[in-house]
Amino acid sequence: MTTTLPRSAASALALVVASVLTAAPAWAQQQDARAPREWAPNDPTRPRPPIVDPGRPLDADPAGRVPSDAIVLFGRGDLSRWTSNGEEAKWKVGDGWFEVVPGTGNLATRDSFGDVQLHIEWAAPSPPQGTGQDRGNSGVFFMGRYEVQILDSYMNETYADGQAASLYGQHPPLVNASRPPGEWQTYDIIFRRPRFDADGKLISPAIVTVFHNGVLVHDHAEMFGPTAHMARRPYEPHPDRLPLVLQDHGQPVRFRNIWIRDLERGEPST
Ligand code: MG
Repeated sequence: MTTTLPRSAASALALVVASVLTAAPAWAQQQDARAPREWAPNDPTRPRPPIVDPGRPLDADPAGRVPSDAIVLFGRGDLSRWTSNGEEAKWKVGDGWFEVVPGTGNLATRDSFGDVQLHIEWAAPSPPQGTGQDRGNSGVFFMGRYEVQILDSYMNETYADGQAASLYGQHPPLVNASRPPGEWQTYDIIFRRPRFDADGKLISPAIVTVFHNGVLVHDHAEMFGPTAHMARRPYEPHPDRLPLVLQDHGQPVRFRNIWIRDLERGEPST
C-alpha cells in the first residue's frame, strides 16, 4: 500500500527541503554567530557557529583529545612556548610531562592572552611531603595576576580559599573534587579578563568558571581583584592580553596536556 501526502503537506515539505538546501552554504561560511546584533528567534539566515573537531588525539596522551582550534601549550615534551623570566624555560621535562624545578621561578607563556578556555592537567608529588600550603602547591595565574590554586588537597587541611581549585584568597571551590597525590587531575577553566575604560576605571571584573576533574567548582565567580596573600588588592588597569603563568611554589608539581582556546581571536595562526 502506498500513501500520498496531501498537497499542502507536500509543498510544506518541499519548502523545508528548499530552505535546508539554500541554508547549507551558511555552514561553510563559518561566520561568527555571536556578532553583536539582534537576531529574530530561529532566523534561518543567522550564521552558524564555526565547526570545531572536539577531539583530535593529543601527542602526550593518546587517550586525550584537544579541540582543533586550540593552541597546544604543552603536548609532547617541549617547553618552547614557555619562558623562565624571558629566558629558556628551566623546568624539568620528562616523557610527556614537565615538572617545577624549585627555585627556578615561575613559567610564563611566550604568547599573551585575554579571554580564554584553558585545559591543564597536573599531579601533586607522591608520596606527599609537607602539610597545608606546603604540599603540592603551584598555581595557574591568568594574565600573571589571577590565580586558580593548585594544591594537594586530598586529605590535606588548609584554609578554604587556599585549597585546590580555589580562586586564591577569594573564593573556595564549591566542592573538593581532588584526586590523590600522584594521580593526574584536570582543570578546565573559562577566564574572562577584567575590562577597564579609557581612564583605567574598572568596567567589569575578571569572571572565572572552573571544572576540577570534570566537576563544577566555580560558576561565573567574580574576582575582587588580583590575587594576594591575606590581603585584598584593588584592580589596576593592565593590558588586554598578558602571558599565562605557572607558579614555582617550591614543590615539584607535574603538568601535561595543556591547551588553550583564545576566545577573542578565533582560529590560531599556527
Ligand atoms: Mg599557589
